[in-house]
Amino acid sequence: MFLARTELTGRHYKKCNIAAEIWDLVDQLPNVKGISSDVLDCSLEETLYLVFLGFFIVLYAMSVTSVPQIDTKDSDNSKTESISFCSKCCANVDTMDHHCYLICNCVGKKNRGLFLCCLLAGTVNLSYLLYLCGAWAFRSNDCITVIGLLLVVLFLGLLAALLAFQLLLIRNKETTIGFMKKNKGKRNFLTGLAKLVV
Ligand SMILES: [Zn+2]
Repeated sequence: MFLARTELTGRHYKKCNIAAEIWDLVDQLPNVKGISSDVLDCSLEETLYLVFLGFFIVLYAMSVTSVPQIDTKDSDNSKTESISFCSKCCANVDTMDHHCYLICNCVGKKNRGLFLCCLLAGTVNLSYLLYLCGAWAFRSNDCITVIGLLLVVLFLGLLAALLAFQLLLIRNKETTIGFMKKNKGKRNFLTGLAKLVV
């Protein structure tokens, strides 16, 4: 991606590239007066991408640090039916959806909306990156660039599929755990998925 900026815009690779800018700042710390103002010279498209990326980073951090786990001592006894125990977190979660390895946290009643926003931000961010650099990366004859493109497509597909699945579950007032219990086995899973869509 560092090289992509140079070849796409004809400008220096550091411009509007957060990783390169951070590296540049660290590299120039001993000589603070020499820090360039390249980051202020972003195009509208680059600024928009940075905004999407910023949203995603903030929402991801919030999802990772959110606390869907509850103390059952404080909960109402009449609501214990909706509480599940997560063996990964060793804690109880109200209306648990699933334990998500992408955010290393449980998804439950308290943070499901936040998790959905995170998935949406990631999908928008990667879609926009694909729109900006996809065609260029596809035409490049550079192996690393093509691998990067494939990774972007792979993660975009994963996030979009997870987002669509979650929206279908919410529409049908279900959780991932409940859906999996009801539809054990590959054949049942596909049948259950078809029922969600219809
Ligand atoms: Zn968990």
